[in-house]
Amino acid sequence: MTRFAFPDFKLTRRYVAAATFTAIAASTSICFAAENINIYSHRQQVLIQPFLDAFTAKTGIETNVVYSSKGLAQRLKAEGPASPADVILTVDIARLSEYADLDLLASVDSSILRANIPSRLRSEDNRWFGFSERARILVTSKTRVAEGAVVDLEDLAKPEWKGRVCSRAGSHDYNRALVASMIAAHGEAATETWARGVVNNLARKPQGNDRSQAKAIFQGLCDVAIMNSYYYGNMKFGDKADQKEWAQAIRLVFTNQSNRGNHMNISGGGVAKHAKNKAAAIAFLEFLTEEKAQHLYGEINFEYPVNPAVSVNGELASWGRFKPDSLPIERLAALAPKAQMIIDRVGW
Ligand code: FE
Repeated sequence: MTRFAFPDFKLTRRYVAAATFTAIAASTSICFAAENINIYSHRQQVLIQPFLDAFTAKTGIETNVVYSSKGLAQRLKAEGPASPADVILTVDIARLSEYADLDLLASVDSSILRANIPSRLRSEDNRWFGFSERARILVTSKTRVAEGAVVDLEDLAKPEWKGRVCSRAGSHDYNRALVASMIAAHGEAATETWARGVVNNLARKPQGNDRSQAKAIFQGLCDVAIMNSYYYGNMKFGDKADQKEWAQAIRLVFTNQSNRGNHMNISGGGVAKHAKNKAAAIAFLEFLTEEKAQHLYGEINFEYPVNPAVSVNGELASWGRFKPDSLPIERLAALAPKAQMIIDRVGW
């Protein structure tokens, strides 16, 4: 198989503008068929480029990426069978299930994926797969909250936290999944009572992103907040001096360690339903579950490996060992509509 039959098309691991991508891919797909994959990614370039480089170095398969934070599922649907996409990469079960619900993913039969990814982190019909785990945790003020004063998500509704809790909007994907995990643990009625208690304890209207909750703790606006743990690493090791201060102000609390375990979400992906390079696409997914790539998730974005045979790096280990919630991630998608109704009713 000849690579780069046309020297005019220099596609090597190159990001191509979304508008020109389809035309280039269509005009080159025949001669490149077995040695290129086209990836639609919700993940930022800086986060996935090292994976692509390592994959190409190992296999010789080149990758082209269309990156967009939104609208890719609709685009894929509009393109239909003519779509050049081979692989979908995204974060959060909400987005993965959107692709599944729109029937945009192919069923993949891979013994490697089944061996490397625990069943709770992939879809039952083998259409999407988790490649890293993300822990949604509580963070508390190091100076105003004693260690061990908050241990469970359930604690957020206790009267002692009145006026001391910060949160982003409840209807954000991250919080909707967290509420879904509460429904799985306690049922709808108890979860609604809890969510109303959380809202009653808020120090301010829900606002901002995860990092701004740490900032609010640093500023003394609140004492406890909900955050994905990788933001702690991003703030601690990022190049923004103010965010390093926010990170220094907080203590990480992996919750529910004496019961169901800490609430988890995933980054993941699948093979596009109309993939033209399906074998290479599956090889890429398999690569993401192997040791090298699994380590990269921790090194680049402080996420946890899904492959139980791969250890976490020293920095992640220093944040604490913890038990993850064993709830199948697919349940979070199934319960999301009920979670959203509760969030709406309590005004989170
Ligand atoms: Fe995030």
